[in-house]
Amino acid sequence: MKLSKVASEIVESPTLALNEEARLLRERGEPVINLGIGEPKNKTPIAGILSSAAKLTSGEVKYVPIDGTPSLKKAVIRYTEENYDRLVAPENVLITNGAKQSLFNIIYSILNPQDEVIVLAPYWVSYPEIIKMCLGKPVIVTPEDGTFTPRFEDIEKAVTSYTRAIIINSPNNPSGAIYPPELIEKLVELCERKGIFLVCDDIYQKLVFDGNVAPPAYQFTKKDIEDSHVIVVNGVAKLYGMTGFRIGWVVAPRALVRVMTNVTAQTTSGVSPVSQAAAEGALNGLQSVIEALRLQIQNNRDILLQEFRTFNGVRLIEPQGTFYALPDIRAFNNKSVEVSNFLLKRAMVVTVPGKEFGMEGHIRISFSGSVKDVTEGVARIKWALDPTSPNEIYIGDKKLIRDWM
Ligand code: PMP
Repeated sequence: MKLSKVASEIVESPTLALNEEARLLRERGEPVINLGIGEPKNKTPIAGILSSAAKLTSGEVKYVPIDGTPSLKKAVIRYTEENYDRLVAPENVLITNGAKQSLFNIIYSILNPQDEVIVLAPYWVSYPEIIKMCLGKPVIVTPEDGTFTPRFEDIEKAVTSYTRAIIINSPNNPSGAIYPPELIEKLVELCERKGIFLVCDDIYQKLVFDGNVAPPAYQFTKKDIEDSHVIVVNGVAKLYGMTGFRIGWVVAPRALVRVMTNVTAQTTSGVSPVSQAAAEGALNGLQSVIEALRLQIQNNRDILLQEFRTFNGVRLIEPQGTFYALPDIRAFNNKSVEVSNFLLKRAMVVTVPGKEFGMEGHIRISFSGSVKDVTEGVARIKWALDPTSPNEIYIGDKKLIRDWM
């Protein structure tokens, strides 16, 4: 069968693939713990449920404006004003099917074939693939060993005449790191000087711990939104744990939003009004749900850190935000794919190999699940890897003995 070379070379999403493997194992009755996927356990905020239910029961579920319903855009404008201190117009906002489509539309709308986009490792798995789908070239900048924040000098050195954008994600999936304000400031200045875009994937903006703040890039520019090199991506998936509604948005100069709207018009015709109503409800409803979710995740993070204190050999940089940790497992095995496969086979725990995020020698652990998942999951990982941990463990109702070291 002859298939497109570009499409065939797109790699499967490793997190979704692992999630599927875990589901199949669970279906067979295996006591799998999924520390692979980043998805909070909370229920949809009631305001979101009610407004989407009202839309549904109206029976008026038709085509809506390609760029988003005016009322959801209004809620996004208010969110932008409150959280970024920026007053933007409806023409600066595009509503998409999840933040993922926002990112795709941005990259598709700013690249010519062979153009380059700088991606900072460790990075979210989809960035390089999206860039390749748009016939561009991802240029990866890696931090110094033992840190998760690339140096500004190395990022600046990676800029060429083909560079069109730098993507940043802080708080960062997969490391939980927050980039320092000085770095964001220098990146804004660099992008303005070079005439390239700074794409800020702010999807975890509010999921921060211990009073940390992820400084928004807008803070460091005096430019008007129409001349701004900053593009902001956000969504309801992590903010309210509303992953299934698939609502994300972009805030950008009008000229770019116009092009992205045409791309949307010719691909998906926009987003279901039922989902848009849900997002609108959540954004306009009680915001204490965000804090409740944040506290629950922070508690999970604290439990994870506690468990890791007695994990010999593993090095863990404390996550400052998100629901991911990226421990360094090189003391056991350099090859993260082998480690993740081993953990699934022996300990029935799903983790994601760091290799997928451009950070070999690490595994990503999601602590978005229940306290029980986190404690039991980490205990199993310790049992499988750390020879100083007790060599017996109960997994489900089976007592297992470690006999491989
Ligand atoms: N950006 C990052 C960094 C993410 O981790 C995710 C989801 N895992 C997304 C974007 C996509 O979000 P959505 O589900 O809204 O498409």
